[in-house]
Amino acid sequence: MEERGSPDGDPARSLEQGPEGPETPIQVVLRVRPMSAAELRRGEQSALHCSGTRTLQVSPPGGGPDVAFRFGAVLDGARTQEDVFRACGVRRLGELALRGFSCTVFTFGQTGSGKTYTLTGPPPQGEGVPVPPNLAGIMQRTFTWLLDRVQHLGAPVTLRASYLEIYNEQVRDLLSVGSPRPLPVRWNKTRGFYVEQLRVVEFGSLGALMELLQMGLSRRRSSAHTLNQASSRSHALLTLYVSRQTMPPGDSGEPPVGGKLCFVDLAGSEKVAATGSRGELMLEANSINRSLLALGHCISLLLDPQRKQSHIPFRDSKLTKLLADSLGGRGVTLMVACVSPSAQCLPETLSTLRYASRAQRVTTRPQAPKSPSPMAKQPQRLEIEILQLQEENRCLRSQLGQIDPKASRLSGARVAWAQRNLYGMLQEFMLENERLRKGQSQLQSSRARAQDEQRVLAQQVQELERRLLCACYRHQPHPGPAPSCPCVMAPPPPCHALPPLCSCCHLCPLCRAPLAPWACACRELHLPQVFGPKAPGGVPLSAQPPPWAPPCDPGSAKCPRERSPSDWSQTRVLAEMLMEEKVVPSAPPLPVGPPDTSPVLRGGAAVPNLARRLEALRDQIGSSLRRGRSQPPPSEATRSPSRVLPPC
Ligand code: ADP
Ligand code: MG
Repeated sequence: MEERGSPDGDPARSLEQGPEGPETPIQVVLRVRPMSAAELRRGEQSALHCSGTRTLQVSPPGGGPDVAFRFGAVLDGARTQEDVFRACGVRRLGELALRGFSCTVFTFGQTGSGKTYTLTGPPPQGEGVPVPPNLAGIMQRTFTWLLDRVQHLGAPVTLRASYLEIYNEQVRDLLSVGSPRPLPVRWNKTRGFYVEQLRVVEFGSLGALMELLQMGLSRRRSSAHTLNQASSRSHALLTLYVSRQTMPPGDSGEPPVGGKLCFVDLAGSEKVAATGSRGELMLEANSINRSLLALGHCISLLLDPQRKQSHIPFRDSKLTKLLADSLGGRGVTLMVACVSPSAQCLPETLSTLRYASRAQRVTTRPQAPKSPSPMAKQPQRLEIEILQLQEENRCLRSQLGQIDPKASRLSGARVAWAQRNLYGMLQEFMLENERLRKGQSQLQSSRARAQDEQRVLAQQVQELERRLLCACYRHQPHPGPAPSCPCVMAPPPPCHALPPLCSCCHLCPLCRAPLAPWACACRELHLPQVFGPKAPGGVPLSAQPPPWAPPCDPGSAKCPRERSPSDWSQTRVLAEMLMEEKVVPSAPPLPVGPPDTSPVLRGGAAVPNLARRLEALRDQIGSSLRRGRSQPPPSEATRSPSRVLPPC
């Protein structure tokens, strides 16, 4: 028995020893599907026999010696989907992805050999009909395991997914919002090959991820041909992106790590003659075979010990571009080779086995992302922040969606009401301001009017007082015609204690005009009789100087006595009394009543007083004139100041 393809060392163990360690070979497991009902009906024989858990024996149809192939694991047709999941080592890749490594699982083999079945279970039995749990493939089981693992990590992990297919050498987004359209494959130094504008969807639950898987599966191209009723016509790549922030953030010094786990369901190589493909199917088959050929070529070159010097033509196809990192770069790769047991498929089975045997001698240098520099940390931090904000945004959107539509209508009405009220309040304030402005201007104009009125009244009062004094004077008994007082225009004191209008040799005390000489010669005649023939002090009034006269020389005959201070103060008081009816301007009063009532003027009470006083003066003048014609002037005792002038 010939045993071929046994790799040096155990790849699983080499990964356990440390992903940063030596070169790690691609891990290959073999799955042999059971004989199908159709094959059994046709009486086909199995050409494959499993020996132990890692060796497969192939019996050539011509009866030659068996050929043995050794892989990481060999799983025959009796093994369940769960057995395959547990034995293939995909969980190790999941762990490595959580630690930041880039990991790939891909199925490889002839069309109809069970690649899609191994990864995702049997083809859908109807639209939206899920795969029975016992038949779920490696992908669904890994999803379940990974999300459970993430929950027990104790560190925040962000999970995202993308799903694309390479159909006729065009990359199409299976998760695109609209219908899939060709996307370009680009390359740069940091990212290597990548698909531009590929939609990457964040998810937080197993259900959400399963929905994404179903969406992609339903959009993927598949057709029926002789060997497979649901043959995949494209290579499909579903990638899970794991972003993890170690706990506590920042304390451990570990940067956030981002790994990925990619599941690749390759379209099967097919002999067009065997599948009977025509037209579009044939074109698809050619495209599939070309990309698989490019993949085989790359693997052959990667096996070359001098490969570091040689050029690996990853750019020959979209498939090899996107698998470049998994095959020859820093990734960790698992290949699940699928074969049919039927002797009718032996040539393709042998080709697959040889291919897989060579692949497991290909090594990669797995590398976790290095600690980013402080400059590089910033974008990562920002990315985490963006993710957190996106999460918050999603929560808020869902909360909004949960709000009862009635309640939202209510709150809308409340907002409208508040807006209306605010505008209403604003308008009211504006109107009130306008009213206040009008009131203030009315107030100012009425105050000006009142001041004018007061001024006129005060002038009238003065004029009347002067007339009164003149009338009093004219009716005094004195020789000869009394000349008009030169200071008659001066405001005389308004009360009964008025002194004569002029003095013997001096100026008028009020207007300071020079007094006439007649007043000096007969000054006793000028004295008003209101004091009577004698003054209160016993001195004849004729002998007394007028109280407003300036002090005379004490020795002079014209100055019989010293003027007392009370004389001066009396004069001053009299003068002030005439001038005091003045409204002192003040600040406009605040309206105390309703806005449309007329404001009350401060100091406005003086106007009626003046009017009353004017009236009293008119009476006084009238009575003086009457007395002048018929009777002597009234004595001091009969005229009190309060009766002559009303109090101011
Ligand atoms: P491939 O993807 O390699 O072209 P499929 O996965 O579509 O092949 O499988 C082809 C057919 O074989 C399908 O009908 C599938 O249900 C069936 N099949 C494949 N593997 C198994 C298996 N291990 N057990 C039962 N049926 C299988
Ligand atoms: Mg398939």
